[in-house]
Amino acid sequence: MGLSEGSPPAALPSSPTAPMRGSPELPQVGWSVEHTLAQLDLLRIADVRWKDGRAFSLAYLASPEAHDLATEAYRRFSGENALNVEAFPSLRTMQSDILSMVSGWLSAPPTARGFFTSGGTESILMAMKAARDQFRHDETRPIRQPNVVLPTSAHAAFHKAAAYFDIELRLVPVCSETWRADASAMANAANDDTIMFVASAPQYPQGVVDPVSDIAAVAQERGVNCHVDACMGGVTLPYLERLGVVVPRWNFAIDGVTSMSVDLHKFGYAAKGASVIMYRTARLRSHQGFVTDQWLGGVYGSSGVLGTKSGGAIAAAWAVMHHIGDDGYLRFTKAARDTTLAIAAAINDDPRLVLRAQPDTTLLSFGAAPQPVGDSAAMSSPLDIFAVADGLAARGWYVDRQAPPPSVHLTVNAVHANTYGMFLADLNAVLDSVSNRRGSAGSYGTLE
Ligand SMILES: *Cc1c(COP(=O)(O)O)cnc(C)c1O
Repeated sequence: MGLSEGSPPAALPSSPTAPMRGSPELPQVGWSVEHTLAQLDLLRIADVRWKDGRAFSLAYLASPEAHDLATEAYRRFSGENALNVEAFPSLRTMQSDILSMVSGWLSAPPTARGFFTSGGTESILMAMKAARDQFRHDETRPIRQPNVVLPTSAHAAFHKAAAYFDIELRLVPVCSETWRADASAMANAANDDTIMFVASAPQYPQGVVDPVSDIAAVAQERGVNCHVDACMGGVTLPYLERLGVVVPRWNFAIDGVTSMSVDLHKFGYAAKGASVIMYRTARLRSHQGFVTDQWLGGVYGSSGVLGTKSGGAIAAAWAVMHHIGDDGYLRFTKAARDTTLAIAAAINDDPRLVLRAQPDTTLLSFGAAPQPVGDSAAMSSPLDIFAVADGLAARGWYVDRQAPPPSVHLTVNAVHANTYGMFLADLNAVLDSVSNRRGSAGSYGTLE
């Protein structure tokens, strides 16, 4: 199975065009395998060409081999069901191997216990739900309406969890210069109903690592939880440290950190549907699961949000982690980091653009540089950064658009080492052409 399978020929336009029409009717007579696969390939013609390094969001590629291996491992276990590992001891073993490998990255103590989940969102939902139930069952400290204190840079998944589980969020603005969480403002936002503090390593929007030690210390002082969202950095940061990059402390080596989330389907380069939620102790983890026997089907238990859960994502993560190995992750982290720094330097050198923050890992964002208006002291920007994103899209590049402030966001991974030169040339050409056009703000996720 080759990587190019299903990719459109190079001559086809790669920019987002009208979606291809599917076939909404159930065929009277089933299609042949060949016809069905050909239709799938037609459907994806307008999709961003992420395997060619054109997506700076949503998709990750370490190497064609690692991707093909993930696909093959997924195929072999796609029908297996991790809802009950009694029936599939293979999946139990793979999950426990994955957790043990991730523990090393997180400097997790021997007491740490976790679960494999379907993604960062599920990991975060579970950390929030577990904290809520932990304090709900803690008779020594009655909580009326539980709240979680988090910086405005923390991921939207915390907001989703708060909405799902009826937890109040106390949002605290980040420091204006650095975009990092403000630990003392977070301390001030807490009260007796606070059950958890959140830090990110790094946060998504500007790619900076929060002062995790300070935030964990505040949590510890109050005797409550501290979750570190390392969905992005959980794989990258340990290797950046080994590459000699100065990284602030960010993991379980800090005493007050009680749980962490790490996505394997991002910089772990696994197939989609792979993340880990890790708790410092089995007791903390015990509040995550769900069990009932109040129906006619006997005892039903599940660890996370899902019931039936494909073995595919677990097998793919297990296979890719073993295939890439420690040396591979070091190499891919270096490739992504060097590329990030090269892009950051080019943006720094361009007077039309402003880098939001010097990237701590391999994420960065930039906006239009403010320019003086006339001879007054006022500043404004003649450039609409979303028009720049539109121009990049027309040239086949997919970037994230975010606000406030209006910015383009890049998640740089190993594949971009081959394409960033072309990207920077196109960015420059787009900047030359868009100066006064308005663009559309887009969104990180869609409701479809
Ligand atoms: C991606 C991400 C999440 C959410 O993970 P999904 O896998 O998209 O559900 C949470 N936090 C951070 C920092 C992320 O980058």
